[in-house]
Amino acid sequence: MSLRTRFAPSPTGYLHVGGARTALFSWLQARRFGGQFVLRIEDTDRERSTPESVQAIVDGMQWLGLDYDEGPFYQTDRFDRYREVIDQLLKTGHAYRCYTSQAELDALREKQMAAGEKPRYDGRYRDFTGEPPAGVDPVIRFRNPRGGSVVFEDCVRGRIEVSNDELDDLVIARSDGTPTYNLTVVIDDIDMGITEVIRGDDHINNTPRQINIYKALGAEPPTFGHVPMILGDDGARLSKRHGAVSVLWYRDNGYLPEALLNYLVRLGWSHGDQELFTVDEMKTLFDVRDVNKAPSSFNTSKLNWINQQYLAKADAERLGGLLRARLQDNGVDLADGPDPSVAADLLRERCETLVQMADQARFLYEEFADYDANAAKKQLRPVAAEGMRALRTALDGLGTWNAEAIQQTIEATAETLGVGMGKIGQPLRVAVTGVGAAPSNDQTLAALGKNKTLARIDRALAFMAEREAAQR
Ligand code: GLU
Repeated sequence: MSLRTRFAPSPTGYLHVGGARTALFSWLQARRFGGQFVLRIEDTDRERSTPESVQAIVDGMQWLGLDYDEGPFYQTDRFDRYREVIDQLLKTGHAYRCYTSQAELDALREKQMAAGEKPRYDGRYRDFTGEPPAGVDPVIRFRNPRGGSVVFEDCVRGRIEVSNDELDDLVIARSDGTPTYNLTVVIDDIDMGITEVIRGDDHINNTPRQINIYKALGAEPPTFGHVPMILGDDGARLSKRHGAVSVLWYRDNGYLPEALLNYLVRLGWSHGDQELFTVDEMKTLFDVRDVNKAPSSFNTSKLNWINQQYLAKADAERLGGLLRARLQDNGVDLADGPDPSVAADLLRERCETLVQMADQARFLYEEFADYDANAAKKQLRPVAAEGMRALRTALDGLGTWNAEAIQQTIEATAETLGVGMGKIGQPLRVAVTGVGAAPSNDQTLAALGKNKTLARIDRALAFMAEREAAQR
């Protein structure tokens, strides 16, 4: 049988970083070993499941490129099948009706707690043959084996053994007949032919119970790999409190999907000390058996660093398209400025996100409001006016407007004036960009174009003249 994995989210919110990593690991496991990857929406909790959330999960996976070979399957479409299996379990004696009321369960619980015992169902209807109490809709419980233990080899955590006496008879159908998670997950994983279950370790206590259900159904359990949780940088479980945890937030805030995937794959998995992995590399190297047992911590600066690496090498056309969309969203008129792919090339080495890139690209399309105060104070001093005027004349005389010609002109002007490049280069940078830190002047001016460059030099000259007048 070929390897089959699945991602089985409950659609009660967006696709968060932890869910995305579980999906990524399951997807990679299937891709690495030539298997299939199934998407199943676990929407039996009708109160908390929403179509918006299903959409957010599907969109998040699509953005990340986690394509599935089958699905999405919806558990709410499978109630007949669950009912059939519940009947089968009742018939074979692997399940029974339990009429214990909530008040009785509460009383039992209190008694057990008072005696210092772990609260658990005491099996009072396990072998019940009498007349059931009137007016009570029973729940259905799984008849967990007594004695012995459940042993399994977790691909991440190693050997796990749990005594059956630790496991009480869990409810597999509520009194309204709806099936519960531990049952539906087993039926689905059997029916969908899942051979490797990869999921968060918050489910690890469910696994021995599920293995017993597999056995009761005469099915071979899959292998299990429980991946450790992701912590925030304060050591607590990653949650909304730590800021953005929705995958689509990262899309909207200027991250590339391959950068987020690269970041996520390294949360708990490594290959030597390699940090950067293309998706193809991940697909040939990843194995859930190499995932670390210890929890990993989310680290935004590392994610930013990785994103920067991917921005630096992204395809120019693609990056240009992404930047174009962002500039348009920001209301920037692109008519009078370079193609966004030129802007992206100019800025790609300097940005951690596309949001930063779009902010930094603005000056290429529209006039900036004010100079950065410090940069202007330092560089746009009246003494710089002479050099600026000389530059203006020389640049104005340029026939071909490209980086090489611009560079030669700046160098020649510095030489004629007998000053170092910095003396005219720094004021020029502030004049055209408004800020002190920007890419090289030749590339910047080339992208900005001749007309805008000359107009900005004029603006700077006026600024310097005003400053001089004010000093008198
Ligand atoms: N629906 C479960 C959840 O979202 C996952 C169950 C599983 O992977 O077995 O936590």
